[in-house]
Amino acid sequence: MAGGDLNRNKRFAVDAMLKNIVSWLRILGYDTVYWDGEDNELLKLAKRENRIILTMDRDLALSALRNGLEVLLIMNNDVSDILASLASRYGIRLDFNPAQTRCPVCNHILVFSKAEEREEWICPNCGKKYWKGSHWKNISKVFDEARKKAGLT
Ligand SMILES: [Zn+2]
Repeated sequence: MAGGDLNRNKRFAVDAMLKNIVSWLRILGYDTVYWDGEDNELLKLAKRENRIILTMDRDLALSALRNGLEVLLIMNNDVSDILASLASRYGIRLDFNPAQTRCPVCNHILVFSKAEEREEWICPNCGKKYWKGSHWKNISKVFDEARKKAGLT
């Protein structure tokens, strides 16, 4: 298994074409910024905040490399493929940890609370509440797929 145990210290900056991966990384607990502005500003942000850039844009990937930044050029915009690549290359964890998860909407760390009838996560920043609803099965399926593709099962 690549990477060891505590790799939730990895941070990401996701380029515009890959918006769909953002919430997945946040659910897994990774500090992830979505960027749809100027390429140069994205490079500055990645450098300043030590973020790994994810992009489908070859030119941007090359500029990032020339600037000594960490970048993953995505060829196939498929959530489980991307997660598998990130697990293989950076050792990110593909298992949900209730104590280390972030708001899919705003990226803030969620606060776990065990309510009477269900487990809940509350975002102290935007106020949104989350729980494992009917869609959770599909979410776990994608993580399972990604683990399989990364050879982690
Ligand atoms: Zn939030």
